[in-house]
Amino acid sequence: MDADVIVVGAGPTGLMLAGELALAGVRVRVLERRDSPQRDSRALTLHPRSVEVLDQRGLAGAFLAVGKPVPGWHFAGLETRLDFAALDSSHGYTLFLAQAQTERLLAGWVHSLGVPVSRGTTVSGLAQDDDGVEVTADGTRLRARYVVGCDGGRSIVREAAGIEFPGTAETLTGMLGDFAVIDGTILHRAAPGGVLAVPLGDGITRFVTVDAQRMREPSSTPVTLEELRSALVRSCGTDFGVAEPRWLSRFGNATRLAARYRSGRVLLAGDAAHIHFPAAGQGLNTGLQDAANLGWKLAAQVHGWAPDGLLDSYHDERHPVGAAVTANTEVQTLLLELTQVARYERPAAALRALINDLLGIEAANRRIAGAVSGLDTRYGVSPEPLVGARMPDIPLTTHTSVAESLRGGTFVLLGLTGDGPAENEVAGWAGRVTVAMASDDAHPALAGITEILIRPDGHVAWISRNGQPGGDRPGALTAWAGKAATSIGV
Ligand SMILES: Cc1cc2nc3c(=O)[nH]c(=O)nc-3n(C[C@H](O)[C@H](O)[C@H](O)COP(=O)(O)OP(=O)(O)OC[C@H]3O[C@@H](n4cnc5c(N)ncnc54)[C@H](O)[C@@H]3O)c2cc1C
Repeated sequence: MDADVIVVGAGPTGLMLAGELALAGVRVRVLERRDSPQRDSRALTLHPRSVEVLDQRGLAGAFLAVGKPVPGWHFAGLETRLDFAALDSSHGYTLFLAQAQTERLLAGWVHSLGVPVSRGTTVSGLAQDDDGVEVTADGTRLRARYVVGCDGGRSIVREAAGIEFPGTAETLTGMLGDFAVIDGTILHRAAPGGVLAVPLGDGITRFVTVDAQRMREPSSTPVTLEELRSALVRSCGTDFGVAEPRWLSRFGNATRLAARYRSGRVLLAGDAAHIHFPAAGQGLNTGLQDAANLGWKLAAQVHGWAPDGLLDSYHDERHPVGAAVTANTEVQTLLLELTQVARYERPAAALRALINDLLGIEAANRRIAGAVSGLDTRYGVSPEPLVGARMPDIPLTTHTSVAESLRGGTFVLLGLTGDGPAENEVAGWAGRVTVAMASDDAHPALAGITEILIRPDGHVAWISRNGQPGGDRPGALTAWAGKAATSIGV
C-alpha cells in the first residue's frame, strides 16, 4: 500500500481531512492537480462552527491573526443581519478571510504533520477491490486502503465510484470582481440585495452581483470589465470607479447532492458531495465540517477499532446537512432572482420585506443564524437535547477549555462531579480517550449531568445523569470508541 488513505484534492476540504487523519496517526497522502496554490479566492468567510472546529485543533489563533471577525452575516442579502454574536459560542462572528489564506494556513498545518502533498498530479480514475483502492494519476498507479474524493464539484472520484449526483442544472449566474478601490464609503453605498461589497484585505474589495440583464449568461462565459461596470451602475447608480480587475468570475446555481457519501472504500467530502449557489457563504464551511466528521471515523476504521456502522454514520450524519444547506441556498437564490424578474418585482420586494421583518424577531434570527453558522447541526435523534449537539466550549478544571481538551483528536470523557472518571478506568481506551473535568454549573445545559463523552469532532456522543455516576460508561465507550485494547489485542 502506498498509503492508508489517499485524499484527492488539496482544497480546504482535502487539507482539513488530511490534517485530521494525520493527527490520528493515519498514513495519508494528498494528490492535487494544480502545480501551485490558488491565488484568487472564491470563499471569503469562516462561520462560527468552522472556527470552533479549527480551535479544537489549536489552529484558530493563526486564522484570527489574519482574518477579521464580523459579528453579523447576511441571508439572501437581506438588510437585517444574522446575529452570530448572540449565539452560544466563543466564536460568535464570521471571520472574513480569503479562501487562499484559509488554504495556506491549512496547508501549513498539514505540512507540520508530515503529510506528503503531491502537486501537479491529476487523478483520472480508480478501481476498488476487497482490500483497497487503486488510483490512476498521470499514468502511475497508487494503492491505498481508502480514497476520499475532495476534488470539487466536478469530482472524478465521484464519477469513477459510480456515485449519482442528482439535482438541478444551472439556471442563474452571478458575477464577481476584485478591485483595488480607494473609496471608503463603498461598503455602505452598495445596494442591499443587488450588490454585495466585501473587503478582502490588502486594499482589495470584492463586488458581487446578480444582475437582471446578465443573470442568464452561462457561468462558462468570461465576465468583462464593461459588463460588470454596467451592472454596478444599474444597481447602485455608479460603478465606484472600478478599473484593472484583479479577478473577474461568473458563478452559477447548479445545485446537486451526492446520493451517497460512501461507496465501499471510496468516500466524498466537500464540493465533491454538494454544490449550490454561494449564498451566505456556506460551501467551504460545510466542507471543513464534513472533514471534521469523517476524519476520526476513517482513522478508527484504518486502525481497526471502529465500532460497526461508524464509517457509514458519516453519510447518515452529513448527508442531511448537505441537504439542508442546498435547500437554504435555493431559498436565498429564489429571493434574489425574483426581485430581478419584472413580473415578480413587487411581490418579490414584499416577500423580501416580510422575511426581513421576521429576521428582526430574535427567535427567528436565532433559528436561521444557528443553521447558517453551523452551530445548530445535531447528529442523530435523542430525547436528551445535548446528545448529538456540539459540546458548548466551557472552561474545564483540567484544561483551559473543551476546545483545548480536543486538540489531540481523541474522545474526551468529561466528569462533572468531584468523583469523575479516573485515568485507570479508561486504560483500555488509552490513546483514544482523554479524561477531563469541569464543574456542572459551567453551563445551564449541563444541569443534572454527571459525565459526558465528547467525540473527537466536538459533538456529544453520550451523557450520564444524576444518581448514576458513570452510568454505563464502558458500554458507551465501547459503542463509540470501540472495544477496550485488551479485548482486541492491541
Ligand atoms: C463566488 C463564490 C463565492 C464563494 N464564497 C464562499 C464563502 O464565502 N464561504 C464558503 O463557505 N464557501 C464559499 N464558496 C464555496 C467554496 O469556494 C467551495 O465550497 C470550496 O472551495 C469547496 O472546497 P473543496 O475543498 O471541497 O473543493 P475545491 O475548493 O474545489 O478543491 C478541490 C481541489 O481538488 C483538485 N482537483 C480536482 N480534480 C482533481 C483531480 N482529478 N486530481 C487531483 N486533484 C483534483 C482541485 O484542483 C482543487 O484544488 C464560494 C464559491 C463561489 C463560486
